[in-house]
Amino acid sequence: MAAEAHSTATLRLTVGDLRVVHPVTVPSGSVRASAVVPALQELVNAVVGAAEAKLGESGTAISCRKGCGACCRQLVPVSRTEAERLLGVIEAMPAKRQQALKERFATAAAAIRAAGLDATAGRADRELSVGYFALGIPCPFLEEESCSIHPERPLVCREYLVTSPAELCAGPQQKGVTPVPVPKVSMAARSLQDDSENWFPLAMLMDWAKTRPRNGVKRTGPEWVQRFLRRLSA
Ligand code: SF4
Repeated sequence: MAAEAHSTATLRLTVGDLRVVHPVTVPSGSVRASAVVPALQELVNAVVGAAEAKLGESGTAISCRKGCGACCRQLVPVSRTEAERLLGVIEAMPAKRQQALKERFATAAAAIRAAGLDATAGRADRELSVGYFALGIPCPFLEEESCSIHPERPLVCREYLVTSPAELCAGPQQKGVTPVPVPKVSMAARSLQDDSENWFPLAMLMDWAKTRPRNGVKRTGPEWVQRFLRRLSA
């Protein structure tokens, strides 16, 4: 079989007060939106890297460390596009691991439904995030307080870093937590496939998978990137 053709372009972005120059490589042909998620992951990594470098100029250190999963009990909003990619990641895992993950997702989803937090439409972000964090539900991907899918973690997880003491992240309402000001490039993924915002809590991934639209539109990789950039600048 012939290798899939790819296209590369160098993006020059101004996001917030950061300037980022970053090459993106995507499939040249017609693909589902989830096929460009790896390129978006790299782009978010570049933006986060620029934010870290800027922070470093002030001599402030990031306190996030491997093995601290306090923030992995927060509501993690994932776009439909990222969700499709994550389902593919899970499907590629050994059956036993898939089963263990599905059980964790089922436990988390039951707690979210019981608290009435599965219905996100029309509710304030703050109300949702405070209510969700109070439940203390670990992300189903969290294992031994580390992310078990670190290279594939959602875009919004990449954007969350703090400079405050790690123990504050576990406190009620996370008082005193100082996040690094990272432009939220991940927001542009929420409406990548449709004009309306389309997201849900990561812990509801398996519930969403049961009713997800399966015949998503196909576009070339460069067209998806152009749509993403339009949403980013909107
Ligand atoms: S996907 Fe990984 S980084 Fe994100 S909340 Fe879950 S465990 Fe944490």
